[in-house]
Amino acid sequence: MLHSILGGLNRLLTGNKLSILIYHQVLAEFDPLRPYEVTAEQFDWQMKLLAEHFTPISLSEAKQALETNSVPERAVCVTFDDGYLNNLTVAQPILAKYKVPATVYVATGFSQGQSMWNDRVMHLFSDITTQTLMLEGTRTELGDWAQRRDLAQKQLMRLKYLPIEERLVAVQALYDENELAAPEPVMMNPEQIKQLSQLNIEIGAHTVNHPILKVLSAEQQQHEINESKSQLEAWTDKPVKHFAYPNGAYGKDLTDETVNLVKKAGYETAVVTDWGTCAHGDDLLKLKRFTPWDRTPTKFHARLVKSRFS
Ligand SMILES: [Zn+2]
Repeated sequence: MLHSILGGLNRLLTGNKLSILIYHQVLAEFDPLRPYEVTAEQFDWQMKLLAEHFTPISLSEAKQALETNSVPERAVCVTFDDGYLNNLTVAQPILAKYKVPATVYVATGFSQGQSMWNDRVMHLFSDITTQTLMLEGTRTELGDWAQRRDLAQKQLMRLKYLPIEERLVAVQALYDENELAAPEPVMMNPEQIKQLSQLNIEIGAHTVNHPILKVLSAEQQQHEINESKSQLEAWTDKPVKHFAYPNGAYGKDLTDETVNLVKKAGYETAVVTDWGTCAHGDDLLKLKRFTPWDRTPTKFHARLVKSRFS
């Protein structure tokens, strides 16, 4: 009942707006270290809800519709950032079940076995039988999951805006200090990326090393933007037309110079992480998105509709 009211409001009042949703991982099971990541069970009802109450379209269809002012009622795109293996193993079967198209943006530097720096930091805190860790020279009690999450967050904040090389050295130092081996790969390799692209998921680029583009020189930015495109085109044997800026806050993580380089590289669309919906006339290289974090179907639906009233 509530869903049909929300659906009606959405159809009548939000016009030809497009919502682009951001996901990262879809976990097979709940992870106490990542309580805000969506699980397979939650993702299943979310995609069912989109299929029943929205019009899920691919990003290529969205691009065409935005250009020609023909965005369908209640249009929505589903996107994933970074290129996690569980996008293939957990999310794709659910997307297929409800016939929801999606785009996965891959940072290609992590496709050869090494995880992203933030996942390597999180992994340090993931074994509940490990009770202490050496952190920046101090033996630290890890405690329960809430304390572990806090400690992991502190490390992430400390490392986040360091230059790439310095950050990687600092992450490796944490592993060396604790004599820990590298975690199992959690990102897709080139073969798995190709497999996903053959299952009707669009593959977009998300740079090579996932840097904050704004802090790089124009040459470095261009390399990150162009190289990831050509690698993914070689791996999937398909053109790569869509791009997602790492971190993605316009002004903070990317500038107009970045947008121009993305245009020059030949991308048709690019997405930021600034909150909002898209409409005809918007810059296709700065498409806004929305993270659906609600954990009950009614709140999820209501917030999605509400986000379309801006
Ligand atoms: Zn990312």
